[in-house]
Amino acid sequence: MKKDIRSYTYDELKTQTAHLGEKPFRAGQIYKWLHVKLADTFDEMTNLSLDLRERLKAEYEIYPVELAERQISKLDGTNKFLFRLGDGNMVESVLMKYRHGNSVCISSQAGCRMGCVFCASTIGGLNRNLTASEMLSQIYQIQKLTEERVSNVVVMGTGEPLDNYDNFVKFIHLLTDEHGLNISQRNVTVSTCGIVPRILDLAEEKMQITLALSLHGSTQEKRRRLMPVADRYRLEEVLSACDTYFEKTGRRVTYEYSLVHGVNDRDEDARELVSILKPRNCHLNLIPVNPVKERHFVRPDRENALNFKNKLEKSGINVTIRREMGSDIDGACGQLRRRYAEKEMPADEI
Ligand code: SAH
Repeated sequence: MKKDIRSYTYDELKTQTAHLGEKPFRAGQIYKWLHVKLADTFDEMTNLSLDLRERLKAEYEIYPVELAERQISKLDGTNKFLFRLGDGNMVESVLMKYRHGNSVCISSQAGCRMGCVFCASTIGGLNRNLTASEMLSQIYQIQKLTEERVSNVVVMGTGEPLDNYDNFVKFIHLLTDEHGLNISQRNVTVSTCGIVPRILDLAEEKMQITLALSLHGSTQEKRRRLMPVADRYRLEEVLSACDTYFEKTGRRVTYEYSLVHGVNDRDEDARELVSILKPRNCHLNLIPVNPVKERHFVRPDRENALNFKNKLEKSGINVTIRREMGSDIDGACGQLRRRYAEKEMPADEI
């Protein structure tokens, strides 16, 4: 396989061009083609000699993601994209338009092996990790297709980013590099199911990205029923790792809580949540669960969700209900990809 040129940091690219016998400024030119002008072929790099372009082609590949399907919400302009990777794997990304700017949600793996019971992305298991460039290319392709500038990135699509740690960290460096798209680290959020050792590693990277922790249960026992990963990393350990992240980075942690009717939206759940979150300087984001065809979870109605939120708010918790975007398109995480998988597979294998 040829080398993945868009996954090199600026410094690594300098080493590569030196190895090709080229001067350091060539690395700057190539980096700009790859990460600012968003070129998907070497032929676009017109300020490089034909000879150099041929030598690049012989050794490297750009591996862009390719659009397979796009849906646009009539309600709020949300765009959902299904992208095909070089080896045929499919991933989903979403562009959400807010007053404060455009936010893109990207996938970090093709599939997922974490097994959260309400999530569509984990149903077929993990196919493979995405490379740093495949994570970046989702954003680049969306900028090119929509001609919109992306200002915020959330790593909340398919996959567990901290289960693909090295590629994920590299992706953040590339995304926020001043020579590239130069997105502020403060405008990037990573969501994790709670892989404790990797949360602690991330705290040491001294980055300014926001950590979002998928909580979903207010006790170890309740969380374990929804998230098998809780068997490996207990609630107290996860919370303590998040505290460390806050101490080391100064970034307030967001807790995500998918509200499932009759499962985790009762009074006692609210009380337990308060006892966990009250001592912490954090934010709680409630997500009324998105019904997934293969699962049988029911979302609370608007009034129940508001009641739950009010109880927490009255106890001094900083809480919001996630605004639903693009509910007229295949909204829930992983559903566009699932629908595609169903088309490709005989019915009895699903
Ligand atoms: N692996 C990461 C990213 C997952 S997706 C993580 O676990 O955090 C981002 C968020 O959406 C997570 O909090 C996830 O638990 C939640 N989620 C997944 N499926 C959902 C569904 N059907 N309804 C509501 N939230 C869901």
